[in-house]
Amino acid sequence: MKKILITGAAGFLGSHLCDRFIAEGFHVIAMDNLITGDIKNIEHLFKLQQFEFYHHDVTKFVHVPGELDYILHFASPASPIDYLKIPIQTLKVGSLGTHNLLGLAKEKKARILIASTSEIYGDPLVHPQNEEYYGNVSTIGPRGVYDEAKRFQESITMAYHTYHGLETRIARIFNTYGPRMRLNDGRVVPAFIGQALRGEDLTIFGDGLQTRSFCYVDDQVEGIYKLLFSDYIYPVNIGNPDEITIKDFAEEIVKLTDTNQKVVYKPLPIDDPMQRQPDITKAKEVLDWEPKIDRSQGMRLTLNYFKEFSKEELQKSEHRDFM
Ligand code: UDP
Repeated sequence: MKKILITGAAGFLGSHLCDRFIAEGFHVIAMDNLITGDIKNIEHLFKLQQFEFYHHDVTKFVHVPGELDYILHFASPASPIDYLKIPIQTLKVGSLGTHNLLGLAKEKKARILIASTSEIYGDPLVHPQNEEYYGNVSTIGPRGVYDEAKRFQESITMAYHTYHGLETRIARIFNTYGPRMRLNDGRVVPAFIGQALRGEDLTIFGDGLQTRSFCYVDDQVEGIYKLLFSDYIYPVNIGNPDEITIKDFAEEIVKLTDTNQKVVYKPLPIDDPMQRQPDITKAKEVLDWEPKIDRSQGMRLTLNYFKEFSKEELQKSEHRDFM
């Protein structure tokens, strides 16, 4: 049985990756320090013999006994509100944490895939963003702690590949949504759905004309899975190119939830990218991958997940603003 270590395993993407690799017959070693992850996301796997959980912070030396075939490094706060709250941890997990995992991969002769992000493009001046674009990032802005850690992560990963011959893969992940997002992580999908279900106004930051392109989690997981088993060592964008303004997206959520909520406008957070859309030509070519689940289908699945929450849980997760 092949062994895979997944860091950030209790998080949104990490937990879905655990499910996928268990389903594919892997032995999964899940690791998380539970700062932003939630053990509930992987609780259902604890009874399985092929699943282990290590409560560990990957910025500290990472030890895993025995052989290891693959590593997926998905540990990191990933929502702007989170990385504003814990900026140092965000910098450390992308830099020191990645260094530790590359060292572990080298020791075990394991292939490692790291979770990079569309944030490495910053507030992009090229649209849609292809992998050749170098980005437009403010080093000292509020998002810099995440963006620069992820840029460093790509650099050190390529250096381990070039210098040590390590088998490395880099996924540039664009906005992804689905069940198990944290209701109060501040990101727009759970934020709007949470507000609609609590009967609150939907808060649009700025004029709402900024765009995002949302990818359903199952599509994202499939892209990552294909990338891990491909031969391609350069970064690959994984996301859904279906672009929408945040204003139109708010309207879609109001319709979807059948709630008639109003929208209110709040100031745009600093360095909030004005547009974002992945160019996925490369993923199509080298992975034969493209997303299959459209936004209406994916949002319905996501809403069904959040509808399971009790009134108390919904209230507890009241909306968090930047201000
Ligand atoms: N946004 C918003 N209202 C909210 C939360 C987010 O208008 O309650 C906006 C945010 O300013 C950004 C977009 O939605 O322009 C996506 O934000 P998110 O935090 O989901 O991710 P980002 O792509 O900015 O990292």
